[in-house]
Amino acid sequence: MNDLMPPETVVRLDDPHSGLRGFIVLHSTALGPAAGGCRLWRYADEAAASEDALRLAAGMTMKNALAGLPLGGGKAVLMLPDAPFSRTRLFEAFGRAVAALDGRYVTAEDVGTGVDDMATVAERTAHVAGLPRRDDRPGDPSPWTARGVFQAMAVAVERRLGCRLSEVTVAVQGVGHVGMALCELLHEAGARLVIAEPRSELAARAATRFGADLVSSRAITSVPADVFAPCALGGVLTLASVATLKARVVCGAANNQLASPEVADLLARRGVLYAPDVVVNAGGIINVAAEYLGWPQETVPARVDAVAARLREVLDRAEACAVPPAHAAPMLARDVVAQSSRAGAAKAALAA
Ligand code: NAD
Repeated sequence: MNDLMPPETVVRLDDPHSGLRGFIVLHSTALGPAAGGCRLWRYADEAAASEDALRLAAGMTMKNALAGLPLGGGKAVLMLPDAPFSRTRLFEAFGRAVAALDGRYVTAEDVGTGVDDMATVAERTAHVAGLPRRDDRPGDPSPWTARGVFQAMAVAVERRLGCRLSEVTVAVQGVGHVGMALCELLHEAGARLVIAEPRSELAARAATRFGADLVSSRAITSVPADVFAPCALGGVLTLASVATLKARVVCGAANNQLASPEVADLLARRGVLYAPDVVVNAGGIINVAAEYLGWPQETVPARVDAVAARLREVLDRAEACAVPPAHAAPMLARDVVAQSSRAGAAKAALAA
């Protein structure tokens, strides 16, 4: 569940014909098949790719457990080959690698990959989700992630500020797939928006649609706002950025928002309520799980909205144990895995 818990399996990928290089990490299968997306990114070397895969897979174990999913945690990290390369051949080769794991790993999209890549993977294996829209199944996880963040933000704002989203200003960093959908929900709820987004066409669209104020990427962490919603890259909460943060609530979609564990303590000392990313950004994986496990699509909204109740549980645990919420989330995830392992052992003993 954390860096101290070693992964169950690490598969090194190396296929010179397609250019496929990287790692699939099965961190834990205690709750079910290890599930987590496939990232395609430029890495300095194999060591950097493997480190990222290990960290992300461990995070997925925690996220899936906290979301109440019957899934363990895993992740694939592919090293972006030098151009020119065939994307189709790359993802066919990746699909074969996933197939070889025989259902122990379930993949989906992540940073650098999309629904079309997953469609290529699906030609080689059934253990993939996040596919192009079929019937009533919207494959894109981003709107679900935004919905979960929105529900969680309402809880965090109520707790720390004692008010509703209609009364707050939210500073949103990044209006890509998730950030834009989140702004839509916040705008409908009556929140005032301040946005930083380097892609000027997206920034302009957000300003027009939501009447949002635009600020630079550098300024967004310190603008006067009630809530800061990181929806771009990880590592945005550093000792330096938190020192100038005006918002009293942090709640956003980005993975791995804390640059280091001690940032959680600084946030708490400064009276900032940090809603842990592994809890609040689970909406996408919940939709992926529903697709893979064949749950009716109409059950997804309630499952995603349950993120709010899970955040309350984490905040209650944090208060009870006098630790920051970022430390309470792994404690709760460990309990979920342990309870399920005990239930599994009891079932096996009864069956024996
Ligand atoms: P995306 O690439 O569509 O959007 C990210 C946006 O952030 C881009 O528009 C980019 O231009 C902008 N950006 C980059 N650097 C910035 C900066 N310094 N300041 C402001 N904006 C900046 O990605 P996404 O799918 O919307 O995901 C956003 C974050 O949420 C990522 O960290 C991702 O890992 C995480 N996440 C996404 C999902 C999902 O369902 N897509 C699920 C869980 C977690």
